[in-house]
Amino acid sequence: MESDRGTTMSRGELWKEIENSGPQEWDRWDREYVWHPFTQMREWLSSQNLTIVAAEGNYLIDADGKRYFDGVSSLWVTIHGHKHPCLNKAILGQLNRVAHTTYLGLAHDMGAKLARALTGILPRPLKRVFYSDNGSTAVEIALKMAYQYWSHHGQKRPRFLSLENAYHGDTLGAVGVGGIDVFHTAFGPIIVKSLKAPSPYCYRCPLRLKRETCDLACADELEQILTQHRDHISAIIVEPEVQAAAGMIVMPEGYIQRVSAAARTHGVLLIYDEVATGFGRTGRLFAMEHSGTVPDFVALAKGITGGYLPLAATITTEDVFEAFLGSYEEFKTFFHGHTYTANPLACAASLENLKILTHTSFLQRIEKLARTFSCILEEQFGAHPNAGDIRIKGLMAGVELVKDRKKREPFSVEKRVAWRTTLKVRERGLILRPLGDVLVFMPPLSSTEDELQFMVETARWALDEVLSS
Ligand SMILES: *Cc1c(COP(=O)(O)O)cnc(C)c1O
Repeated sequence: MESDRGTTMSRGELWKEIENSGPQEWDRWDREYVWHPFTQMREWLSSQNLTIVAAEGNYLIDADGKRYFDGVSSLWVTIHGHKHPCLNKAILGQLNRVAHTTYLGLAHDMGAKLARALTGILPRPLKRVFYSDNGSTAVEIALKMAYQYWSHHGQKRPRFLSLENAYHGDTLGAVGVGGIDVFHTAFGPIIVKSLKAPSPYCYRCPLRLKRETCDLACADELEQILTQHRDHISAIIVEPEVQAAAGMIVMPEGYIQRVSAAARTHGVLLIYDEVATGFGRTGRLFAMEHSGTVPDFVALAKGITGGYLPLAATITTEDVFEAFLGSYEEFKTFFHGHTYTANPLACAASLENLKILTHTSFLQRIEKLARTFSCILEEQFGAHPNAGDIRIKGLMAGVELVKDRKKREPFSVEKRVAWRTTLKVRERGLILRPLGDVLVFMPPLSSTEDELQFMVETARWALDEVLSS
């Protein structure tokens, strides 16, 4: 294709056009030059879209100055709210020293401090921090390390075991261990598929069992796969307690203990993907604390910087780390790294985030807030004829909408009930984003009780409006 840039407009004019632009141009350029993630662009191009230009606390502000409560924490990352004075100060302080320096062959103070902090708040065996910059890479790193760990021990174990309904990111390795058909089927031929155990989605038990027996049966099935294939399996990967992207599927109590015990019994490594559940989201600092289990790897991202900058960490044990030690010529090195690994600005944000988060009163507040949240959801949706299942863990929740509550019959896909509900709530100053027909609530941990009440009440109002239209 030919470029007509130089001929139609000078560089000077281009910059002038950008500098003098306003909401109308931004909207036009967005439609003309941008491709949005997870978005059917034909639909996007013909819809009215929101342009966010600022934020404050738990609110996003659009180009017209209208404020919206950030009900999904800017896709599950915001913890203490936007424009938090301490987080801003930490980032600006670092900005005045150095914005970025490579982590390949050089160290920096912020990376060291953050590694100290992370290992100080995680269970003891998790003590080696490998940085990257998003959740998918944090997962890829755990998978590659697990595979190579066994290679270094003279064993070839090319398989992973993961769960149906799992979401571990969008890069090809992460898609291989994913189990959400709408996202993953399209790439079937170009990925290495993992072995899949059933997901303990007991509202719709994959084994067609009653709710009470579903979890045990799912764990049994996982054990069976392990018994059969364990010599070829490097690791099991799971999202502990909540399969988030699948629609906030909260695992039954005891299930994660079973997975963890099975990994130990059968001698395979265990990877926890806490990209969504980490940093207070489930009411504890990490979801693994609910089960009291400790994996060989934990992948962290999303909330790690309080939602300010991209950063991720894969944290493993000294046992795994030591398997990679040797002389250079042995090539036991972990040959993997990303250019912006351990970006110092992101590390500074993360350190400040952790400092606020680990304050005793903060976690106490979250526990109390989570109880209130649960009551509000129950009050608004508990008796709603179209709320099939209400799933809550800490400050993450999903309400699965159904056409017929008794039969658990879903709405037809093209009705897009949850989607239309989340567009409707914007009228009243709320941002939500659903997962299929699951209404998702992921408020910032800094939300007040009144804000939670507003969020859930508004969603219920919008749902009723959509259903009666
Ligand atoms: C979001 C998410 C990822 C992927 O993280 P990205 O930063 O979007 O690459 C991986 N695992 C889980 C559980 C997630 O929720």
